[in-house]
Amino acid sequence: MLNFDDLGLSTEILMAIKVKGYSTPTPIQVQAIPHLLQGHDLLGIAQTGTGKTAAFALPLIDRLMKNRVKARPARVRALILTPTRELASQILASITTYAKNSKLSSAVMFGGVSERPQIMAMSRGVDILVATPGRLIDLMEQGHVRFEQLEVFILDEADRMLDMGFLPQIQKIFQALPKERQTMLFSATMPPEIMRLASAQMKLPIRVEMAPTGSTVDEVTQELFVVKKEQKLPLLKKLLEVHTGPTLVFTRTKYGAARVMRRIRDLGVRAAEIHSNRSLSQRREALEGFKSGKYRVLVATDIASRGIDVVGIEVVLNFDMPSTSDDYVHRIGRTARAGAKGHAITFAMPQEGGEIRAIERLTRKVLPISKLPDFPGAESSQELLAPGPERLSSPRPGSSRGFGRRPASPSGRRAGYSGFRRRFRFR
Ligand code: AMP
Repeated sequence: MLNFDDLGLSTEILMAIKVKGYSTPTPIQVQAIPHLLQGHDLLGIAQTGTGKTAAFALPLIDRLMKNRVKARPARVRALILTPTRELASQILASITTYAKNSKLSSAVMFGGVSERPQIMAMSRGVDILVATPGRLIDLMEQGHVRFEQLEVFILDEADRMLDMGFLPQIQKIFQALPKERQTMLFSATMPPEIMRLASAQMKLPIRVEMAPTGSTVDEVTQELFVVKKEQKLPLLKKLLEVHTGPTLVFTRTKYGAARVMRRIRDLGVRAAEIHSNRSLSQRREALEGFKSGKYRVLVATDIASRGIDVVGIEVVLNFDMPSTSDDYVHRIGRTARAGAKGHAITFAMPQEGGEIRAIERLTRKVLPISKLPDFPGAESSQELLAPGPERLSSPRPGSSRGFGRRPASPSGRRAGYSGFRRRFRFR
């Protein structure tokens, strides 16, 4: 097995890695670091949890350290673009750790907070800037960020950025960058838009794929409960008694997150919420509290979940189905990080068979349906076993990624997935 000493990194970085406590490089680090040190472009297909941050950050730091130039005022030598503030802060924290034996400067830039400290940091020039697209473009347009000295550009979580509608901003940023540069693009999945972006903007990139697109982290065990809406909260209560470790609960909406969080607190379980209705400091407090063990349960929406890099999450619980099957993969990737084991539980309502099928197609795995445990109201699920006319319609031809619009059945309810129904009936 290769170890860090074999990858060609400088001693200062190896020392920082040792202090951080990493003993062996993860597969993406083994595959990507030597190529990146040689200056190649890289297309990395990897989810968070694989060690991808260190895979791009270590060779980046190495390069900037060796190429001793000083960033002039308002200039950046490396730009890391990432979709959310949480992720940006997380990446900056990793960079600070790995670069602690170097003299490199770094800064973070995102919206929702005052521009002033970010402008101040830029006024001196910065070696590594971690930014989200909106604020970066604002400050670029005001002349506070300039790219004449840019050597490396890293686009992280590219698929997520596209889902969030950032494609125009990304294109604008690409236009502002010098042509001569090293480019790295990381994405958990490779939809055609990203392939197009990569071929337009990268020079013969090395492709490193950690797992086939859409495959779920192998260490995550998965299970599915078929429930009616009103059974979700009692089942959640029951499951929080069975699984007593750190749990991340996903809801579809921020209002749902707030409601579920309150109900969990009513049970006497320490819980916090993280979604776009919370201020940055509230989100930080929730995340830090979850990391430190102050909160056992964190309730999140998909967008807020991106930066949740917490080792030791025992269970990811999909209280509501995600809105795309990609989100499912991202959600369950929050558990089983850095080689640990994890468990993912999903609540699906009977009419959500189509969504389950799309997830199964993307992950190429069947989600096993579990029998409901005993809880008040569980018995009424027997009704779900009866084939209602609205569930007899044939499955829609769905895309494997987004769920799209679902055709309504003549009864006005959504059509189901026959395999889903069949498996459920004969479980
Ligand atoms: P990432 O995929 O970059 O979000 O990293 C996931 C987690 O793995 C982070 O908590 C890292 O600190 C951790 N990690 C990264 N590389 C290693 C390694 N070689 N050994 C152990 N943990 C690592």
